[in-house]
Amino acid sequence: MQEDQVEQPDGGVTPARVMSAPLPIVAIVGRPNVGKSTLFNRLVGKKTAIVHDEPGVTRDRHYSDVTSRGRRYTLVDTGGFDPESDDPMRQGIKRQIDVAITEADVIVCVLDASQPPTPADHAELDLLRRAGKPVIYCANKADSQRAELELSDLYRLGARDLIPFSALHGRRIDELEAAITAALPPPPPEPEEGAAPDEAIRVAIVGRPNAGKSSLINRLLGEERLLVDARPGTTRDAIDTRITKGKHSFLFIDTAGIRRKAKVTKEDSVVEAVSVLHAIRAMERAEVVVLLSDAFEGVAEQDAKILGLAVDRARAVVIGLNKADLLDKKAFGKAEENARDKLSFVPWAPIVPMSAKTGRGVGNLLSTITRIAQAFRTRVPTGELNRFFEQVLEHRPPPTSGGRAPRLYYITQAETSPPLFVVMASAPEQIHFSYQRYVQNQLRKNFGFEGVPVRVKYKPRR
Ligand code: GDP
Ligand code: GDP
Repeated sequence: MQEDQVEQPDGGVTPARVMSAPLPIVAIVGRPNVGKSTLFNRLVGKKTAIVHDEPGVTRDRHYSDVTSRGRRYTLVDTGGFDPESDDPMRQGIKRQIDVAITEADVIVCVLDASQPPTPADHAELDLLRRAGKPVIYCANKADSQRAELELSDLYRLGARDLIPFSALHGRRIDELEAAITAALPPPPPEPEEGAAPDEAIRVAIVGRPNAGKSSLINRLLGEERLLVDARPGTTRDAIDTRITKGKHSFLFIDTAGIRRKAKVTKEDSVVEAVSVLHAIRAMERAEVVVLLSDAFEGVAEQDAKILGLAVDRARAVVIGLNKADLLDKKAFGKAEENARDKLSFVPWAPIVPMSAKTGRGVGNLLSTITRIAQAFRTRVPTGELNRFFEQVLEHRPPPTSGGRAPRLYYITQAETSPPLFVVMASAPEQIHFSYQRYVQNQLRKNFGFEGVPVRVKYKPRR
């Protein structure tokens, strides 16, 4: 398994393809112990775990892309956001629901069929009734028909169309899945035939609250002579901003989402969680992800988490180290070192020092985005690719493994945006990871894949 690939239950690789519309977000909410994570795992399927050999990428099991009945969506277990709280029953739920209401398209409210309704359940349903979003009510631990009959108490909560199911045993999961996919927003329309392809570089600006994302957008809007195109996107309130500078157009994805602060509550954990969900949504549609990080505060674990999600999706990445105006040269050098250290799983991502406040470095950020977007879209001609590959093999052939050296026959570029290379080999499973890394690095160096994840797949040819 190569880096940046996601193993699907069918053994395929998740299309890392840039989508024109965001994947809908489905959030699971519910009291502790009702079975949210069991349901999450059941819906995601065991094999969907993201395989990544890079150390330092924070694995987060609370989000996963799911393919179900021909639709794709991002499933989120909001229970995973719960920090310890004095009153877990109430606090946890309120927080989850705030997050879900702000960012989710569909909310799955999980109740416990094995217990009578609790005051927390009543509070939860009260909040959800005002959500203004589709909510699917379901009762877990309905392990048998008999258990289902005992549900009548839960019906007193007033949840309409309560679906009894068992996450552990898979009972009536189909029904729940059907209800979820039916509640998803309609799929985006296919682009009209003959419509000119949009060449604009699609950029997502992501980062923690207060990193300076809105300041950057305002700066871009204010300083350059811009063509602003703020029409509502295909879904909901996704509003993109088009900026043209010289020969290049940029589409900054969901800038409305960047400016929209979590109004519901000022609790930090909610704001953080909302920023992660916003990032996930925007990244899906972006070629280039700009992680904006506060140089003064220092790079945080949350930054690494967000960047890890971009790398999982095989997006091109740039790190904007913002608020450089607050630091002298020496302090900034330290901040940069710290960023490299915390984000060591992407040594190939450029770091751009900048200040959204003074505008310094913003031009450099745009030209870096342009450069890496071009690399992201590059197709290397097969002849050139194989001449390079022969040199690589000559310089350092694959090491012997199990008495024989695997043979590598040829290489092709199967995809662009993001680039995917396929190497035909005699015994792909015997090619050592460090050798794969070597090939990857050579490709990156030789063809200028700065800031771009380079995926290489080895296929058998006997
Ligand atoms: P969470 O706190 O809501 O994420 O709940 P978990 O998924 O961790 O589940 C809490 C407990 O309920 C665990 O012991 C699970 O094994 C159990 N559980 C989950 N689903 C079912 C189910 O369908 N039937 C029964 N009997 N137990 C379940
Ligand atoms: P967002 O939450 O990521 O959208 O962050 P904002 O753009 O709202 O910025 C948060 C705070 O940081 C605001 O008070 C900004 O004025 C400030 N800020 C943003 N960029 C810079 C910068 O480059 N330098 C300094 N000194 N402050 C900045």
